[in-house]
Amino acid sequence: MDTQTPPPHVLVFPVPLQGHINAVIKLAELLAVAGFKITFLNSDHNHERLVKFTDIAAHFGRYPGFELRTITDGLPQEHPRSGDWFLGMFEDATEMKVKQSLRDMLVNITPPVDCIVGDGFLGFVLDVAKELGIPIVYYRTSSPCSFWAYYSIPDIIQAGELPIKGSEDMDRLITTVPGMETYLRCRDLPSCCRVTDVEDPIIRLVAKQTLKSPQADALVLNTAEELDGPILSQIRTKCPNVYAIGPISAQLNTRLKAKHGESYHPFLNSLWEVDKKCISWLDQQPNRSVIYVSFGSITSMSREQLVELWSGLLNSKMKFLFVVRPNSVIGKDVEAEDVVRELHEKTKDQGYIVDWAPQEEVLNHPAVGGFLTHSGWNSTLESIVAGVPMICWPYFADQQVNSRVVTEVWKIGLDMKDVCDRKVVEKMVKDVMVDRKEEFSNSAAEMAKVTNQCVNVGGSSYTNLDRLIEDIRVMSMKTPPKILV
Ligand code: UDP
Repeated sequence: MDTQTPPPHVLVFPVPLQGHINAVIKLAELLAVAGFKITFLNSDHNHERLVKFTDIAAHFGRYPGFELRTITDGLPQEHPRSGDWFLGMFEDATEMKVKQSLRDMLVNITPPVDCIVGDGFLGFVLDVAKELGIPIVYYRTSSPCSFWAYYSIPDIIQAGELPIKGSEDMDRLITTVPGMETYLRCRDLPSCCRVTDVEDPIIRLVAKQTLKSPQADALVLNTAEELDGPILSQIRTKCPNVYAIGPISAQLNTRLKAKHGESYHPFLNSLWEVDKKCISWLDQQPNRSVIYVSFGSITSMSREQLVELWSGLLNSKMKFLFVVRPNSVIGKDVEAEDVVRELHEKTKDQGYIVDWAPQEEVLNHPAVGGFLTHSGWNSTLESIVAGVPMICWPYFADQQVNSRVVTEVWKIGLDMKDVCDRKVVEKMVKDVMVDRKEEFSNSAAEMAKVTNQCVNVGGSSYTNLDRLIEDIRVMSMKTPPKILV
């Protein structure tokens, strides 16, 4: 009989959205590289799409014991799952359904799960873990600055700084988010704060999920001490056990390149079909001459907004690579398709339009000199790692805060928040790509240097991940040792 302790079995469970899956599956891979047995739990719907558009089974098949499992997201199969559909997951009956499925799985799974890495927005996962006595690590995939703003919502309300009183009030400074008093305005608060009634269900949901975080055994954040030090200090006053291990993508690339050499290809974790032809188009463009335009996996826009953005790009005379995701233009499908077809035809000489791009490869391409982004946290970090300055056009959630930090604290771009006007687009594109190019390129290059050092051996994020791995091992050993026969 062999009494050697087998590796910890960790169940990893993201919110079923592209940005969350991206960040969480990378942590799952890092834990698999450390030798853990991983069960990655995805919604049935997203698993099907990953199987269709990626090599997920082959990629993770290289890790012994890596298992892909699925669970319902609680919604009927025919649900369109577009826009902010995921909020439906938090309605009582739907949440109950997912919670019950998770509980059943955890009770029956073999070998038993020693630790859960749960998405820090899924409070019911924490409830189930506590009920079953399984240690839980929270992984909050949005930015630390937004986490801290969400956490402070009750204090902001208590101080009478919310609700916002009309559009003339948007530039008022918020003084009750410690550490952000000098730059956070009403318009920079997470979008859930843009309500006239502070009892609004969304603001309550976001605050409720965030305020649960101190109950987790640990909190993992996708950032680095050098990027977000002051905010991390604030968060540690509430959640003492914080691990800043990001940017997760860079951390994974560093470790896998060290292990497998340059030949290693990262997992392209896409819920849409990636159009690689845009790379050949970029290959033909001069260095730093192209502005990359993408608004992530959730943003939708009106036909008018699309035309304003596109006209501004055309008028700037800069080359552009524009991601127009299927179903991202609001309105009847046929009309939206007509606009996109028209853009394709009129854009040929100056730009390239795709449904979905290999974003990290694009950002690291020498031809790309700027990024017009919705300021999603993954996109923001990917741009920082690549040293590409940003123009921020935030859509919702944490993006309003992220864009403020990018422009006001880190000074690596411009904020176009709450404006969609072709003249402004043109001016900002020219600023970043021509008139203030040197200023932004230098600050973005400096930021990239510091950030990339964090994920190298001995860097803060590298060390924090090693510590997390060891701490999960210790937490897992507190459950009775398994016997190998
Ligand atoms: N992404 C991509 N191709 C695209 C657009 C986006 O691969 O054409 C990826 C991008 O690299 C990022 C993720 O989708 O990792 C979007 O996450 P983010 O947090 O930026 O925004 P969200 O989609 O959650 O709003």
